[in-house]
Amino acid sequence: QHSLPEDKVLVPVEVTLKPSSTAKIEDVRSAVEGMLEKRSLSYIDGPIPVPLDEAFLADNVQRICVCGCDTDEGRHNDNVLLFWQVKPIVHVFQLSEEGPCEDISSDGQSSSFNEWILPAKEFDGMWESLIYDSGLKQRLLRYAASALLFTEKGVDPFLVSWNRIILLHGPPGTGKTSLCKALAQKLAIRFNSRYPQSQLIEVNAHSLFSKWFSESGKLVAKLFQKIQEMVEEESNLVFVLIDEVESLAAARKAALSGSEPSDSIRVVNALLTQMDKLKSSPNVIILTTSNITAAIDIAFVDRADIKAYVGPPTLQARYEILRSCLQELIRTGILTNLQDCKNVMLPNYACAKERLNAPDLQEDSTFMQLCKHLLDTAEACEGMSGRSLRKLPFLAHAALSNPFDCNHIKFLCTMVETAKRERSEL
Ligand code: ADP
Repeated sequence: QHSLPEDKVLVPVEVTLKPSSTAKIEDVRSAVEGMLEKRSLSYIDGPIPVPLDEAFLADNVQRICVCGCDTDEGRHNDNVLLFWQVKPIVHVFQLSEEGPCEDISSDGQSSSFNEWILPAKEFDGMWESLIYDSGLKQRLLRYAASALLFTEKGVDPFLVSWNRIILLHGPPGTGKTSLCKALAQKLAIRFNSRYPQSQLIEVNAHSLFSKWFSESGKLVAKLFQKIQEMVEEESNLVFVLIDEVESLAAARKAALSGSEPSDSIRVVNALLTQMDKLKSSPNVIILTTSNITAAIDIAFVDRADIKAYVGPPTLQARYEILRSCLQELIRTGILTNLQDCKNVMLPNYACAKERLNAPDLQEDSTFMQLCKHLLDTAEACEGMSGRSLRKLPFLAHAALSNPFDCNHIKFLCTMVETAKRERSEL
């Protein structure tokens, strides 16, 4: 059945401008909207070609990407949405190429925080590269979007309470820090008409305490002074990422038991007070991560509205991570021996399972073998973190006896062996 216009699915379309482009965002947005309307695309998730016959777009636009899988409908329909179901929401942006601006303290030592202007080139593609199969990313995106909307509409926090603190916790290497950065980048893009500027301040809580405590106090003061200044500018959207937040609790505990100088408790308290103050500003989102899964005894974390557990990847997620790795090795020509090599598209988990259960006799058997081996490898990697999985193809390549004849079957076998070795060394 056709949906009525009012229940069309809003699908974000992200348009990246070329670094050299000086076109007005507004102009590019209407050109893209016109183009989408004219072409009645089916909204599959992923990039669509920039039309070469439209000079204005071809000159200014680097990439157009449909984010259909950020919607429930997209996820339930294998990321395929049809144009009559959809209203595209076009977001145009240019990536900042400035890189991290590391604050150097007066004594020339590098300090404990980094500042990024968003959307940053370094975080481009990070959101897409993170794979979780529980809808975690969509949940985080929607949560943050609601929080920003409530603020913008001026909902009275005494009547409806919400906050802008997110805590991601779970074992190391599961992508928590990356997910925070990627989320900040996404929100900076999706909210750029309301907030034309956006920054991310990255604080490593642990490093605050590995310094002299007297220095730490000054650092915290300086850091928050800076953040406060940013937040006062109404058109700024500010993200504060505090990594390894459990070290704050640990430092406080140690100070209370007398095993650390009482200076440290002052630093922790200063940090918590400052964060409490920040919470009242509408244009701040605080992102925190912790490698400890048990409860963290810190007041502000208690108040986090979203506490999401980020676990090791499931079989399906492992398959998808390894698939994206292999696809990259095929694209770059490192993995050879496949017919029509560079255009081979490895199937996603569901398709691979289906095709292996009901093999089509027409199908190239080399290709089927590849799917089978990939699934086996994903099974063999149980318990490995996302971080280890992304390193595995490199380690396997380095372990090949003849790296210039990189046959895919040999390669996947080496990968299983490497995985076993890695796991035994854990
Ligand atoms: P954490 O903060 O949990 O220790 P990181 O954010 O430092 O983890 O993750 C390190 C790297 O591991 C990421 O940059 C990413 O390449 C990879 N990674 C981890 N988990 C995943 C995942 N679920 N999907 C894809 N890549 C992942």
